[in-house]
Amino acid sequence: MRKFKTESKKLLDLMINSIYTNREIFLRELISNASDAIDKLYFRSLTDSSVSINRNDLTITVAYDADARTVTVSDNGIGMTKEELDKNLGTIAHSDSMQFKAENGEEAPADIDIIGQFGVGFYSAFMVGSRVRVVSRAYGSDEVWAWESDGVEGYTIEPASPAERPEHGTDVVVFLKENSGDDNYDHYATEYGLTSLIKRYSNYVRYPIQMAVTKTRRIDPPEPAEGEAGKAVEGGSADGVAEAAASAQPKFESYVEIETINSMIPIWKRKGSEVTREEYNEFYKTDFHDFEDPSRVITLHAEGTLTYDALLFVPSHAPYDLYSKDFQKGLALYSSNVLIMDKCEELLPDYFGFVRGVVDSADLTLNISRETLQHNGQLHAIARRIEKKIKSDLLDMRDNDREGYEKFFGDFGRALKFGIYNTYGQAKSTLEDLLLFYSAREKKLVTLEEYAAAAPEGQEYIYYATGNSTAQLAQQPVVTTVLAKGYDVLLCQEDVDEFCLMTMMAYHFEGKEDEGSEGAEGAEGEGTASDAADEKAAEKKDEQSASRARDFSFKNVGAEDVGLATEEEKKQAEEATSANQALLDAMHNALEGKVERVVVSTRQTESPAVITTEGDLSLKMEQMLQTIAIGSQEAPKSQRVLELNPQHAVFAKLQKAQEAGEADKVKLYAGILYDQALLVEGLPVDDPIAFSQAVCSLME
Ligand code: ADP
Repeated sequence: MRKFKTESKKLLDLMINSIYTNREIFLRELISNASDAIDKLYFRSLTDSSVSINRNDLTITVAYDADARTVTVSDNGIGMTKEELDKNLGTIAHSDSMQFKAENGEEAPADIDIIGQFGVGFYSAFMVGSRVRVVSRAYGSDEVWAWESDGVEGYTIEPASPAERPEHGTDVVVFLKENSGDDNYDHYATEYGLTSLIKRYSNYVRYPIQMAVTKTRRIDPPEPAEGEAGKAVEGGSADGVAEAAASAQPKFESYVEIETINSMIPIWKRKGSEVTREEYNEFYKTDFHDFEDPSRVITLHAEGTLTYDALLFVPSHAPYDLYSKDFQKGLALYSSNVLIMDKCEELLPDYFGFVRGVVDSADLTLNISRETLQHNGQLHAIARRIEKKIKSDLLDMRDNDREGYEKFFGDFGRALKFGIYNTYGQAKSTLEDLLLFYSAREKKLVTLEEYAAAAPEGQEYIYYATGNSTAQLAQQPVVTTVLAKGYDVLLCQEDVDEFCLMTMMAYHFEGKEDEGSEGAEGAEGEGTASDAADEKAAEKKDEQSASRARDFSFKNVGAEDVGLATEEEKKQAEEATSANQALLDAMHNALEGKVERVVVSTRQTESPAVITTEGDLSLKMEQMLQTIAIGSQEAPKSQRVLELNPQHAVFAKLQKAQEAGEADKVKLYAGILYDQALLVEGLPVDDPIAFSQAVCSLME
């Protein structure tokens, strides 16, 4: 007996006995594995001339035995060698990330997610089976191996008779659990039970799913001789008619016939209006191995120089590896219902890489290769259209289902923001309208357009603050002072935020009233009098919106100069500076190497001091660069400025110490002020022990 790895065991137990009650999906999972196995063989036949198969022979078979209480799913796909049985079925989803999650992940009830995210599909068989036997013959091999397990401790792998699996492929035999209480498993071993599950969950699987079904047919009695039949009718009495009917009573017999249960008509080939959302959801879950319904379903049908159908899905949660380098984006590419590539990257830009779906075009050739794809103009045209369509669908969600959009943005917003940065701003016009940021004033997520529309006359900048949490940021003096001046601040807590905003550099606000106002422009072209009037109205609208249109640059409120000080405030600060030059110099000396300058602040804050930065590198960015600096490599430092609040009681203390010539005290205070300002901004102090000693020395 080979033991399951500990983490697999934990997961298996969690999954089989968890709150996940939709056991019937086991069939869908086994069928989709069978379909994948056939795909693999089919792909191999395209590139490897030694593999010859006939597409029409590729099938999945479902069978049951009511007496033995078994359900068997078979395929004539690629099959598995002994080693593959061990590797693929011995460890639940044998990926590193999976292992990581299993070892470190929280306990239930995150389990549903785990099932969905890691595609532990095969193991769902243990939700209905007390034992599972997998008999497999790898393509081209003479050996047949049987893997068997009760899904608890471990599994065995033994040689099996070649007769058990005469052809390449795999049989998965599920031995149903005993019924107990409300848990009845018998219906899985019935014709009706299985055919309805196949129709429900696997209708669009592209290979035929065949099953032996019992049918009845009439065994016609020998044709009555003409004369006899005539006589009975002619007899005229009611009895006579009944007699004749009885003697002609048809006889039936039952017989068994192999039938294809699934429709196989691709769902994307059907009219959108004829397909229910439920059907789309099932297709998505089956084909893309997700356990949750998609949040958006997008259909696209194009005709013209290029004819194609696309069916796209926005998942309702981010896959666990979306932001890792292993993540593979792409849409399945079909040519007339035949899959040519399961992840065609060229069809999706990176920032929409989370979208799943299929594209089917009869205009593409079947033997298109990865290399030729990159230069395929048709494909690029499809990709551009798809990108537009995704964007407009997301905008639609933003405008009509804000709650849903915020959830979406929580999962995928990072991909959009990263998209702006990563394309050096080229994707800015595509993505900027899709962004959301947390507004300190509104205390909710807003779009840049909403921010700009609410900005008072004369505001030049879109202010933002960066840090580790919005709650913390909302309290920071650099934020509250800008708010107090009547300007909103976007609170950014993700690493990518500042990179995104800096790449954008500016935001152009159109100042359009609303989408509806464009209606007036609809009547272009025909020169009637009323059109002329419409045109005038449209021009006027344009003028109006032109006057509302504004350009904003982005400004980090942690920058030394946010351009908000009034002349009065500047003058006061200048006066305080010249009056306290010696103090400022002494403090600068005390903080040598830590700050560029010590200045009197023009900001009206309640705190004794704040740290701001000169130049492009903010404190948050510096911190981030530090975490990714390699080895002894020094990360670049931001240019820090310590700004003192001359109104604060602490400032008076500093002045007093300076006047009394207490240099040590000035030095001590400078250090403490600097460190506490860092703490307020959510940053670590350089030397916590020295800081603690300094604070304690104040109490002695
Ligand atoms: P997933 O299908 O999400 O990878 P599963 O737990 O369902 O995860 O299956 C694990 C692996 O076992 C598959 O990736 C595949 O390599 C292999 N496998 C499962 N079923 C079959 C089958 N019928 N034929 C060939 N290989 C299979």
